[in-house]
Amino acid sequence: MPLKDIKKGCEAKGLRLTTSRQDVYEIIEKSDKPIGAYEILEKLSLIHSASKPPTVYRALDFLIKHNFIHRIESLNAYIVCEEDHAHHGSQFIVCDKCTRVEEIHLCHLPKEIDSRLSDTKFQMLYWNTEIHGLCQACQK
Ligand SMILES: [Zn+2]
Ligand SMILES: [Zn+2]
Repeated sequence: MPLKDIKKGCEAKGLRLTTSRQDVYEIIEKSDKPIGAYEILEKLSLIHSASKPPTVYRALDFLIKHNFIHRIESLNAYIVCEEDHAHHGSQFIVCDKCTRVEEIHLCHLPKEIDSRLSDTKFQMLYWNTEIHGLCQACQK
């Protein structure tokens, strides 16, 4: 999602896009691979020398909560959301060789999960599916 859309997105939802939230988003967006919190902090420190880990983690929490970015659990790293609509649950294909991640949309899954869970008393907070393998370029 280009930054102008995160600005629009925040405006539409009445969210405050602080400088650090915007900077963290830009750092993740500019990275061509999933980027970890420590690397984000390093890059943020180049912009604001006083940046501390809590600044990064608070910005990440905000961006995740509002679906602007996703956390790739198996890599412990972050990517920006490719969709311009909020979606529940995320599915990714992860290349084990070059660590590139692509968001894939298995749009029937959320519905199915919701309907199965509605029979139980389990309250879902989030879910995440990561399919590991080799991307086309790395298969050669
Ligand atoms: Zn997404
Ligand atoms: Zn690859």
